[in-house]
Amino acid sequence: MQLSVAEQSNHEITGLLYGQSNRVAISHLLTAVIIIVWYAKIIPLEHLLIWGAAVVFFVAARLALHRVFKRYNNSENNRLWMHALAGMTSLMACLYSFAFIYFTPLSEQQYVFSVGMAIIALSAVSTLLYSASVYIVLSFFIPITVPTTLYFLLAAGDIGTIFAVMLFFYSAIVLSLLKKVNEIFKKSVSLNFQYSQEIEKRKLIEKQLQDISRRDGLTGLFNRRYFDEVLDVEIGRAHRNHSPLCLVMFDIDYFKEYNDYYGHVAGDNCIISIAEIVEQLANRKGDLCARYRGEEFAIILPNIDITGALAFANKIQQHVQDKRLPHKASKLTTLQSVTVSVGVTNLVPFKKVKAKELIRAADEALYIAKREGRNRVHHKENNGLGHDLSN
Ligand code: GH3
Ligand code: MG
Ligand code: MG
Repeated sequence: MQLSVAEQSNHEITGLLYGQSNRVAISHLLTAVIIIVWYAKIIPLEHLLIWGAAVVFFVAARLALHRVFKRYNNSENNRLWMHALAGMTSLMACLYSFAFIYFTPLSEQQYVFSVGMAIIALSAVSTLLYSASVYIVLSFFIPITVPTTLYFLLAAGDIGTIFAVMLFFYSAIVLSLLKKVNEIFKKSVSLNFQYSQEIEKRKLIEKQLQDISRRDGLTGLFNRRYFDEVLDVEIGRAHRNHSPLCLVMFDIDYFKEYNDYYGHVAGDNCIISIAEIVEQLANRKGDLCARYRGEEFAIILPNIDITGALAFANKIQQHVQDKRLPHKASKLTTLQSVTVSVGVTNLVPFKKVKAKELIRAADEALYIAKREGRNRVHHKENNGLGHDLSN
């Protein structure tokens, strides 16, 4: 299923929110310690410790939720994870509200004010940690501010009124800021996502273009330019590793006559059929088949010795002959079918040979195969062309 940019961005945002889990856990634990120390003089220690244990429990549950999220989240169940996070965040906020309402002596101004400061600090931190989602910030902000503000407004007299007014204005500022920051955040996540999608698309197009630029339009085999590039690389590799390398070149016999007799379109189809045969046969990893020019093909065979290469060349010649593609104009009158002549050469171990020299040797072998009657294989070692590596 194709997901929209908005859905993908939401998924990303949920990941970012859950990604804050460790920071959230640490800040809850630190806040709990400060609250316990702050109320220690006036509240029995066991009450505070029970409350502290509840905080630790919820922090552990929050971290566990993060682990489950990492395992099971995906862009389709994103909403569920957002609600789970909101629920967990609200529960933590309720725990704070409970502490502020239950532990604070209404007659002691400094405690009432300290609750105000604590709420401001907690809201600020939650806004920073969760700015990616207004929903999550509110799921913390509302349960912590609304019950405490109402409680102090109703029960704490003048000081409670001051407290409520102060928190009201503070909340208005925080929420308007949060809205702005959140919009920017969402936009940047969405842009970032679109940008990375664009890059992926471009990479794919580049790959396709590169592939097209390496292929021959008629047969789909590699083209001569790419063949030349690869041959250079393979010769270098063969020299470095002292591994064998063979080159096979073959050419359709009496193809001019074929074109003259059957027409150019049939000629094209014949070239395609030959390309299919060679592609089927050159199936080892590293083998590279190319249409070298016109009705001439070239195959690089790395890591194969001359015996193997000759067997391969004979297979090509035999398969083409066995295919019995009609060629009434062929001067090989006994067959009257399409045939090929094949030239084979190999790298002489410990000789430095250039690609051009190897191609020339294969071409010469091919020429000899033609001269000797066509529909055959000829091998020519390119010795004498290179020079000793030890020189
Ligand atoms: P030989 O047995 O010595 O190879 O003889 P030949 O007739 O095959 O060789 P020659 O080089 O004289 O002629 C090759 C012909 O191949 C000439 C050219 O028109 C034809 N040819 C080259 N490329 C294509 C192509 O892409 N499509 C078609 N239909 N013909 C092509
Ligand atoms: Mg030919
Ligand atoms: Mg030719």
